[in-house]
Amino acid sequence: MAIGDFHLHSTASDGVQSPAWVMERAAANGVRILSLTDHDTTDGLPEAAAAAARLGLRLIPGVEISTEVGKADVHLLGFGFDPAGRRLQEFFRWQREGRLARVEKIVSILRDHGMPLETKRVFEIAGEATVGRPHVARALLEKGYVASVQEAFDRWLGNGKPADVNREKLDPKDAIAIIHEHGGVVFVAHPVYIGENYPDVIRHLRDLGADGLETYYKHYPADVIAAHAALAADLGMAASGGSDYHGLGNPDDRDIGDIPFPDDRVDAFVRFIDANCACGAMEGAL
Ligand code: AMP
Ligand code: FE
Ligand code: FE
Ligand code: ZN
Repeated sequence: MAIGDFHLHSTASDGVQSPAWVMERAAANGVRILSLTDHDTTDGLPEAAAAAARLGLRLIPGVEISTEVGKADVHLLGFGFDPAGRRLQEFFRWQREGRLARVEKIVSILRDHGMPLETKRVFEIAGEATVGRPHVARALLEKGYVASVQEAFDRWLGNGKPADVNREKLDPKDAIAIIHEHGGVVFVAHPVYIGENYPDVIRHLRDLGADGLETYYKHYPADVIAAHAALAADLGMAASGGSDYHGLGNPDDRDIGDIPFPDDRVDAFVRFIDANCACGAMEGAL
């Protein structure tokens, strides 16, 4: 188990567990310092910060933002920014509105494939959370169109599948700028998902201002991690690590903190945050 985990989701976006539950599980697994990185929202942070304070954990403000470079989906993790920033919150609200329109499109494609769903039902399942494909997957499961959330992704919703709809393109430059403007740093998430040419894409992102690379990810094997660490060093980028925990129980999923992230690499990441961020821990933001 690692002492740090900097990629976690909760019910504030498409995770299954509440922010407080995620903090409790992390503490039980031996994690000491962490970040909640819900999609396009910081709404889970106050609850997480209260739980973290109670449990003696250090919580670094975080978020995950979806952007595109050409045809590639590029997810960026923001850390250590001031979550109270008004322009930042406007930006997140705008991103979440794009997700509502996208769900309408996904539902209409699924209807054309003989799987009628109520858009309203998808929003009900999401509740207050940032809505996304996992909520559509749960609606498909509920209707019996698929046997599992994983099957919903494999057949319909996964990247490149018939009901995979891209949102209005967000240029990574804009996401990087807004996080920097609010005192944070930006790491490129799960590089392998970017596709085969990911080293070129990451170099481009570095040139746009990205600060680091998520090197110690979930189930990545040792050779992949070594390649990412070398790439990050070559590009002068810092290295982060995280489980991308959603609580969905998919085949590659890892428990919170169950990631190949050595303690000295966690320490190096935290030093990087402390040296470069306005808001290294939530105490400062509340
Ligand atoms: P969205 O934010 O709506 O694009 O949905 C992205 C989320 O869907 C990811 O954070 C994962 O939770 C989930 N997801 C994406 N692709 C897959 C996949 N192939 N299998 C299972 N879950 C996936
Ligand atoms: Fe997610
Ligand atoms: Fe992601
Ligand atoms: Zn994620």
